[in-house]
Amino acid sequence: MSFRIGSGVDFHQLQKGKDLWLGGIKIPHSKGAVGHSDADVLLHAICDALLGALSLGDIGIHFPNNDEQYKNIASSILLERTMNLIRKEKYSVVNIDSTICLEEPKINTHTEKMRQMIAALTGITINDISIKATTTEKMGFVGKGKGIIAYATVLLKKD
Ligand SMILES: [Zn+2]
Repeated sequence: MSFRIGSGVDFHQLQKGKDLWLGGIKIPHSKGAVGHSDADVLLHAICDALLGALSLGDIGIHFPNNDEQYKNIASSILLERTMNLIRKEKYSVVNIDSTICLEEPKINTHTEKMRQMIAALTGITINDISIKATTTEKMGFVGKGKGIIAYATVLLKKD
């Protein structure tokens, strides 16, 4: 059986008055992420990990942030399209592990819903999706509430 591993990381600025989309759901918060799409940092990191596993480039190559068709697009659609590329190569997802770095809000009450969302989009069960969260202990741009980071690792297997 052939396995492939991939990793992804993504960063976005946080700004007052913007929506905060994370893992395909909208999180109530005074600040949201800034980006060309809905700026869902977790889904972007997962897309990059999936693409990376099959050496298919990165999210910026497939969905350029200067292309009008991707303006304000839901990142769940980007993940759906990324999964189509993975399936075209005859691979499927085994599991996903991820970490979100942000100072606030606390997201542990939302991770169950994010896992359900990502499970539906990637064709695995929620037990195969891990979403962890950490602060940076007030250090750096994350600690000052100016930005958000997500890391993702995925394992794929050949169908
Ligand atoms: Zn992004």
